[in-house]
Amino acid sequence: MQTKFILPEDRLPKQWYNVIPDMPGQMAPVVHPGTGQPVSPDDLAPLFPMALIEQEMSNQRWIDIPAPVLEILRLWRPSPLYRAHALEKALGTTAKIYYKYEGVSPAGSHKPNTAVPQAYYNKKEGIKRIASETGAGQWGSSIALACQKFGLECTVYMVKISYAQKPYRKSMMQLWGANVIPSPSNLTNSGRGILAADPDSNGSLGIAISEAVEDAATHADTHYALGSVLNHVCLHQTVIGLEAKEQMAMAGDYPDVVIGCHGGGSNFAGLAFPFVADKAAGKQVRLVAAEPISCPTLTKGVYAFDYGDTAKMAPISKMYTLGHDFMPPGIHAGGLRYHGASPLVSQLLHEGIIEARSVGQVGCFDAAVLFARTEGIIPAPESSHAIRAAIDEALLAKEEGQNKTILFNLSGHGHVDMASYDAFFAGQLEDFEYPSEAITESLKHLPKVAF
Ligand SMILES: *Cc1c(COP(=O)(O)O)cnc(C)c1O
Repeated sequence: MQTKFILPEDRLPKQWYNVIPDMPGQMAPVVHPGTGQPVSPDDLAPLFPMALIEQEMSNQRWIDIPAPVLEILRLWRPSPLYRAHALEKALGTTAKIYYKYEGVSPAGSHKPNTAVPQAYYNKKEGIKRIASETGAGQWGSSIALACQKFGLECTVYMVKISYAQKPYRKSMMQLWGANVIPSPSNLTNSGRGILAADPDSNGSLGIAISEAVEDAATHADTHYALGSVLNHVCLHQTVIGLEAKEQMAMAGDYPDVVIGCHGGGSNFAGLAFPFVADKAAGKQVRLVAAEPISCPTLTKGVYAFDYGDTAKMAPISKMYTLGHDFMPPGIHAGGLRYHGASPLVSQLLHEGIIEARSVGQVGCFDAAVLFARTEGIIPAPESSHAIRAAIDEALLAKEEGQNKTILFNLSGHGHVDMASYDAFFAGQLEDFEYPSEAITESLKHLPKVAF
């Protein structure tokens, strides 16, 4: 009864898989928020290195991973694939459950898989500093680590309330050499504007993004980096699924269903996209994105053009969205509170190639606790959405007396998120289903685009 399926280092994928050539239909253009015209590479050049802009728009199926990037990924990759024997037993299910564990990275999640190549391409283009934002700190710590490895300076605008409430993630970023600034700050015009109106502002991810983008756009030696949503981020995450396919083969299995939690779409894309290629070649495999009922972008949003940010400064993309002024309630899976979704994940959902479902946070914590008590690993609150969905699939298989092979992504561990478990055990968590009327209202404010 094998538990871990470990690939040797030399089987770390040498290329990323780009899903675009295997998608039905054309990608919709990305639109400039000021001109209403499709965004050109030059529009993006103040924020991103050309290599990433090219990847964003590439039609090439396989893209080489540079050797210096592989060298750093090898610190924790290939990541292990586990068979969840103890969880299966606790559920009494006939299903087989496998999970790919991304919590083995130094920052404890999948995010360094893209932070490292992003830092690399910026360094190669002569950039000296990265400015970025972070909410709960998972992305901030990943980009801080990556900048440290390539000798780049790193400025992280951290949502002020999280800066106060999650001091240990701030410490991680500082340990890896980043300059962490509570946002809103008085260092940018957007921050000063917010502070003038509300000196006690707690900040928000939208405000922090505006500050980081302004910082990058106003300094020639500085670029911006984003931890999810964009095509190049999904591309970098495909090492997860490419490894998982080899590991499932080592186990002599192939999944009937592949599950990832969904915030902006990157860890789901990372595991699921390499299976889209199989699906395009005629294989039967279901691909399921699991999101919170309190931020139901894929299950209750519309597929439309919308701004990437609240301030309407980011490009307009065609994606599933709840509206850019959607205000998600404060849930514990802070990484799953984005109003939009990756345009690639969105188009695949629209075309019926993937599925989406939403799960409540109490059921997610129930699942996370059962998982920690059987498999041992303490899941990140975000990852618990995938666990819930996987357990539900396994229970359904049991009810229907079916054999089923389930593969899910355990996107990270929850070591710096124990406060959310405290809140759960104190009975302070409840399920909040976002009211349809509020979604209808925010959807009235979508931009009008001529494509
Ligand atoms: C950020 C984060 C997520 C959500 O982001 P995606 O881009 O949707 O993957 C999920 N899990 C963990 C552990 C995270 O840190």
